[in-house]
Amino acid sequence: MSDCIFCKIVAGELPSKKVYEDGEILAFHDIQPASPIHVLIIPKKHIASLADAKAEDWPLMGQMQAAAAQIARELDVEESGYRVITNIGANAGQIVHHIHYHLMAGARLSPLGVHN
Ligand code: AMP
Ligand code: ZN
Repeated sequence: MSDCIFCKIVAGELPSKKVYEDGEILAFHDIQPASPIHVLIIPKKHIASLADAKAEDWPLMGQMQAAAAQIARELDVEESGYRVITNIGANAGQIVHHIHYHLMAGARLSPLGVHN
């Protein structure tokens, strides 16, 4: 996807502060962190959102979650706790249409819920 900012990060055409990389997955610090630790975990393959993942993509989704758990361990937030979420579509506030898990930690996170 030539106009996708996360594909550009994967291709090295845009910079990122990488925290993890393997053959299929990349993780980097969010440019506008919403918590003291805010990392994005993405597949190198362009998939727009969880709703667009095909049966063949489910192992990759599992690898992303495993990467999130590994990164949390490496950043030493396993004990204090962390959150892993993915936004799908407008109501969830998805801005970048390349699937990503947010790994958030480093402070007491606000409860999930509706925006007033
Ligand atoms: P979402 O609202 O779930 O689509 O989240 C998109 C996230 O991507 C936001 O938290 C943005 O701050 C983050 N973001 C956008 N552009 C970049 C970038 N170039 N590098 C790192 N994070 C980014
Ligand atoms: Zn993409």
